[in-house]
Amino acid sequence: MPARIPVSAPSITEREVAEVAGVMASGWISSQAPTVEAFERALAARYGLPEAVSASNGTTALHLALLALGIGPGDEVLVPTLTFAASVNVIRHAGAEPRFVDVEPATWGIDPLELERRITPRSRAVIVVHLYGHPADVGRIQPIAARHGLRVIEDCAEAQDARVAGRHVGTFGDVGCFSFFANKIMTTGEGGACLTRDPALAASMRLLRSHGMDPARRYHHPVVGYNYRMTALQAALGLAQLARLDELVAARARVRAWYDRELSSLVARGDLTPMPHAPWADPVCWFYSVLVPTPRRDGLMAHLAAHGIETRPFFPPMHQQGAYPAHAAEVFARSEELAARGLNLPTFAGLAEADVARVSAHVREFFA
Ligand SMILES: *Cc1c(COP(=O)(O)O)cnc(C)c1O
Repeated sequence: MPARIPVSAPSITEREVAEVAGVMASGWISSQAPTVEAFERALAARYGLPEAVSASNGTTALHLALLALGIGPGDEVLVPTLTFAASVNVIRHAGAEPRFVDVEPATWGIDPLELERRITPRSRAVIVVHLYGHPADVGRIQPIAARHGLRVIEDCAEAQDARVAGRHVGTFGDVGCFSFFANKIMTTGEGGACLTRDPALAASMRLLRSHGMDPARRYHHPVVGYNYRMTALQAALGLAQLARLDELVAARARVRAWYDRELSSLVARGDLTPMPHAPWADPVCWFYSVLVPTPRRDGLMAHLAAHGIETRPFFPPMHQQGAYPAHAAEVFARSEELAARGLNLPTFAGLAEADVARVSAHVREFFA
């Protein structure tokens, strides 16, 4: 029996081990260590923004962004229904209400026309999710947001380093939020960050991140805060991953090219539909995502599982989740179709060409 191929795996080298060991040996392991600020500076520099605020994970990063933007009870936040639950849950954490929007086929991100149609007088912000490595159409979303006075949060958890017309995602909105969970483009185990060019927003997020404690007056708390801080162990891992980010992104691009070659005959026959690739976008390959004709997706997953190959179906749309029963009757046809047909194949920087060939051979076998 050949080795099992996981759907995702982090890329950890001697460099990561050495950075984390260095912090351990120093004794500076909490969030107060200089390593955390060093990681924030390196992240901000990578994306050419003045401020990066690290967080304990991507979800708390999104929560901090909403709170710093003043989103709260009585407000609505527009969000695509086809996303990971965290993009939506944070809206409730802030006391606001999600307003779901369908996605567009050209990007799998929020549809700008639908976004504009769904805006109400209570709408205060939009969370733009760059899904499965492909950027949403921020070039069309931003003017709509500006016209209606909406703040823009980018959820870059699945698309770190992707670009729109040459510019990185996370640099377009008021705040760009990142996740460094173990399966993301780069990892700190658990971790996250908010990028912004607004120093006041950054200061507000830092205050909320650390118990709402006045940085100039210890144990004085002007606001109710949280403990959403990243530890130095995470930051050390993050510094090593950031130094390798070009390599990690390039390795995933190679994986995509191998799958493209191996699966081209199935695409030509219409058995598989590959991910969209908008002409203005430089996606990253978070997952090699394909659409399978309904109802064969689950059969393909089972076939691959029987051969030791792990896959993931697309996220079920959030309006159909038990957590959001008030939205159960809403219909978002494109998100529902993608969720029923979408499949993520094993994708990670350490995946070998022979692994991609083996996965692809079993996919071809299924359709033969
Ligand atoms: C992973 C992810 C998050 C949450 O990040 P965590 O670090 O796991 O909290 C948020 N949004 C999207 C789209 C994600 O994929």
